[in-house]
Order: sequence, then structure tokens, then C-alpha cells
Amino acid sequence: MVSTFLVFILSYLYHGLGITLGYHRLLSHRSFKVPRWLEYLIVSGGYLSFEGSPIFWVGTHRLHHKYSDKPGDPHSPQDGWWHSFIGWMYSPLVDYDAAESMRLCPDLYRDPLYRFLHCNHSRWHAMLCFSFCLLFRAVILIVLGPAALVANLLGASMPFLGALMVNSFGHMSSLGYQNFRTGENSRNIWWVAMLSLGEGWHNNHHALPSSARHGMLTREPDLTWWILKALEATGLASDVRQPERKRLEEMMSVGHTGRNSVSFDEAEGSSGNLVSRGDR
Ligand SMILES: [Zn+2]
Ligand SMILES: [Zn+2]
Repeated sequence: MVSTFLVFILSYLYHGLGITLGYHRLLSHRSFKVPRWLEYLIVSGGYLSFEGSPIFWVGTHRLHHKYSDKPGDPHSPQDGWWHSFIGWMYSPLVDYDAAESMRLCPDLYRDPLYRFLHCNHSRWHAMLCFSFCLLFRAVILIVLGPAALVANLLGASMPFLGALMVNSFGHMSSLGYQNFRTGENSRNIWWVAMLSLGEGWHNNHHALPSSARHGMLTREPDLTWWILKALEATGLASDVRQPERKRLEEMMSVGHTGRNSVSFDEAEGSSGNLVSRGDR
């Protein structure tokens, strides 16, 4: 029983961080650096959580930042809540071709592994991902047994659900609050942040997309950020980007809306614009 629960927790962290730390903050926004072997290890957790190839995920996400809540956004609630939650995967309103994909992700196309996993922008990338995901579960079943398989599937489905909730609830103006006026409907929602390892501080993220840190206040816990800080402390992560405190205060003072009142003493940002240790 204890070991099954452990598999659940480890699966939650492996697949969840694969998306939040790997696909999102590392590959989509390049908000820190890690050695290539560690990048592949982190990204593998995202790949094995049924979310498609890194190029598919990053391309879709960069489109979302480019057209947030406007025509061209792949998953905005402006096109209906169900569409923003999961419908966009099966009946997309925005279809981008291989040429657009290369324009969106030139950095990932330079990597032969990511090119291979993307299968030349064809439907085969989804089939390949699905096959690897099934193979991974078959190994778990054979080595650890059926209880561990169920624990892994539950552990993987939680952050998957969290990502869907960020795309849908995280852009509904009736929920949560904004720390920044970002010109679209992105919101900070605590219960989405809890499920998604810190990704629910989505208005903060839209205001400062290159920041590796999404929870900007002490009362905005961001587990992904804490784990990244631990990697940085051990020397495994470098060039970790976050806003300087002064810049954060300036942006928040003109931008706050919603129910949450902000005391700047709560802001923990370091110091001006987005900086990493390597920039200082
Ligand atoms: Zn968004
Ligand atoms: Zn993003």
C-alpha cells in the first residue's frame, strides 16, 4: 500500500514536472538552462503523459501566447469552455502547418530527437507518443504489477487535468484574480495552481512569460519553482530567469485587478527586469 502510494507521488512529480518544468518553462520559454541529459530526463516525463511531441506542445503554446484570447489562439474560452478544455485537441479551430511549426519552434527543430518525435509534422507524432506511453505502462505492469500501473495512471492524469484547467479556467474572467493588466483574460486561481504544480498563477505567467517563477507572492506557492531552485542550488540548473523586485512592483502597481489585494512586501522577486544569475 505504501509502495503503491509512493508510485503515485513519484508519477505525479515525474509527469507533472515533465510538463511544467520541461515542456513549459524550459522548452517553451527557455527560462533556465540544464545539461542536455537532464533536459531529456525532465522532458521524458511530459512526453510519457500523453501530451504529444515537444514540438507539438511548444508550438501550440507559443501560438497561445501570441494570440491569447484572440483569433488564432488554439484554446481560448472565447471559443467555448469545452473547446478550451479539451475540444481543441480533437476539433481544432486553429491548424498550423509544418512551415508555421518551424517558424514557431526553430530551436526545437535543431534537436534531432525532438525532430524525430515530431514525425515531420504529421499525425504520426500522436501515434508515436501514444505507442511510447503504452510501452512505458507495459513495463510498469510487468515489473511492478497492476496496482503500480493504476497508481502511475492516476499520478499522470492529475497534472494532465491541471494543464487542461489552466487553458480553460485560467482564462475565465469570472474566476480568480489578476496581479497584472495583460490585455487578455488570464487569471491566477489557487486551486488550479495546487493541482498543476504552480501553473495556475497564469496571469503572472502571461505578464512575465520568460520568468521561471510563476507564483510571485509568498501566498502563491509554486512547487515547480521550488524544485527548480533546488536544482539551481545543486548546480544542475543555471541562468534561472525571474523578475527583479523593483520591476515587479512597478508592473503590479499599475496592473492589479480582482479580489486579491497585494502588499508589495509580499512580493519576493529579486531586483528590475527579468534577470538570471548569469546576467548579473
Ligand atoms: Zn494562457
Ligand atoms: Zn507559457
